[in-house]
Amino acid sequence: MSVQQTNTEAGEIRQLDAVVIGAGFAGLRALYKLRDEMGMDVQVYETGDGVGGTWFWNRYPGARCDSESYYYCFSFDEDLAQEWEWSGKYPEQPEIERYLNHAADRFDMRRDIQLSTRVTSAHFDDAANRWEIRTEHGERVSAHYLITAVGCLSAANVPDIPGRDSFQGESYHTSAWPREGVDFTGKRVGLIGTGSTGIQATPVIAAEADHLTVFQRTPNFTVPARHAAFLAEDQARIKKNYPAIFARTRESPAGFPYFPIERETMSVSAEERQEVLEGLWEEGGFKFMWGGFSDLLINPIANEIASEFIRNKIRGIVKDPETAELLCPTDHPYGSKRPPIDTDYYVTFNRDNVKLVDIRNAPIEAITGTGLRTKNAEYDLDILVFATGFDAMTGSLLKIDIQGAGGRRLADVWAEGPRTYLGLQVSGFPNLFTITGPGSPSVLVNMPVAIEHHVDWIADCIEHMRAQGKTRVEATEDAQEAWVEHVAEVSKESLMGKANSWYVGANIPGKPRVVMPYAGGQPLYRERCEAVVKADYEGFEFRA
Ligand code: NAP
Repeated sequence: MSVQQTNTEAGEIRQLDAVVIGAGFAGLRALYKLRDEMGMDVQVYETGDGVGGTWFWNRYPGARCDSESYYYCFSFDEDLAQEWEWSGKYPEQPEIERYLNHAADRFDMRRDIQLSTRVTSAHFDDAANRWEIRTEHGERVSAHYLITAVGCLSAANVPDIPGRDSFQGESYHTSAWPREGVDFTGKRVGLIGTGSTGIQATPVIAAEADHLTVFQRTPNFTVPARHAAFLAEDQARIKKNYPAIFARTRESPAGFPYFPIERETMSVSAEERQEVLEGLWEEGGFKFMWGGFSDLLINPIANEIASEFIRNKIRGIVKDPETAELLCPTDHPYGSKRPPIDTDYYVTFNRDNVKLVDIRNAPIEAITGTGLRTKNAEYDLDILVFATGFDAMTGSLLKIDIQGAGGRRLADVWAEGPRTYLGLQVSGFPNLFTITGPGSPSVLVNMPVAIEHHVDWIADCIEHMRAQGKTRVEATEDAQEAWVEHVAEVSKESLMGKANSWYVGANIPGKPRVVMPYAGGQPLYRERCEAVVKADYEGFEFRA
């Protein structure tokens, strides 16, 4: 739908059943569910000029998925699963973007998605039990339900380094990468950030650029992805097994089609431990976290064994001992930050044209016209890449002026950290549903699996309201309070709170430190959501 076809402030306000914000995995799934499966009148607004969400924006060099393709996808339509051919284990960004575009076309979604349109505000009208939504183009629509599908990692964090805007060369944040790409040939490139993004981008930029300087504040543990193309027999096996694969993704703690092994680190000999870890390193991927020992994320001693194993790998790969030690994380346990997986990250530091610079001990003081200055050196650069992450989980929601019942602003209600019931609703914000909102497992689960669960739950809730003749649903303050406490309690059992990560908001200056995702695992969370429904939507208040 073009902008011209929608209503403007001068015209009548268009009445919709639901507005969905975002056209990534979550928005697309929500649109199909509500419109095609439930017959609702739905409008999706998307800031980008294409669909795909994360996979539209993050087109930086080396961007590829960390979860395997055949389960990092929609499971709701068997025909879609059967017709789509994934090229290999860890597809690159263009392939996932193509997949999401294919889904948008296949289900005729585009007619209800307005691209290039940022939602600027959403205010709840208490009397009408409806949301009034405004866009950057001045459009105004009214919707019974507001569904946010804004992504957990979509508000870019571009650090406010002195002189940032004075740089005369090209500079990019990895999540706002130009469609036409960036030519690094013959260029001196500086890259700030060594999270999953920086770790993916480093080897690819290094291979193209004249010189790459990686500015590292905190070293990160990464294990090899071991990407491999699928053979015809892999495709056939996957397609035959899709129902079982998808069923397992819904039952396992992290939404993968395999279950964590029931074996504690200390239950086996040192030799056997080494063998298991070697096997996992060779196999590659996230299995390193789940497939070896069950206590990696809860037992500090077990964690240290795995952490030291990775450090020794770094020391073995990186030839310059000083660089190797700089790359060894020592300030946080493995897995307490979201672990990256990589293709040739550590070995890239053996290249003559790559330099690792420690900005922990000699911080960046300023960005200059010609490059960057740290406490003890100047670096001349042609291109500066910010792989500096996101204002995660709350950033994109709080960019929108969301006001609930009685004009309460979400930004005020969340001033001390996000508060939700089940990560699905916020007390005081009736008829607003937050797909993979803070307080739900979200980022700790394979995202499409978490998203599909939320969309189904929301749809069932709306169906329930229709059946009961209700027009307003809202989480109670008490239920929310208890859930927030439960999320905090559960997080204490994991090592997650131990690192300064985006999980806890530590990457954004001034952001309250709260473990935002629910760390109890997907099965427990799903059980909880089902129990709530069975208990007649306990903790939710419905009104006619
Ligand atoms: P990130 O994990 O938050 O890493 C940001 C990096 O930038 C960190 O090394 C951080 O250092 C550094 N940084 C931030 N502000 C800085 C500053 N002011 N000065 C110097 N350094 C600064 O962000 P990300 O790498 O974009 O990844 C975010 C998440 O996106 C991942 O954890 C993952 O969930 C997702 N992701 C997924 C994939 C995939 O599936 N393929 C790929 C990429 C990203 P500190 O650690 O010291 O804060």
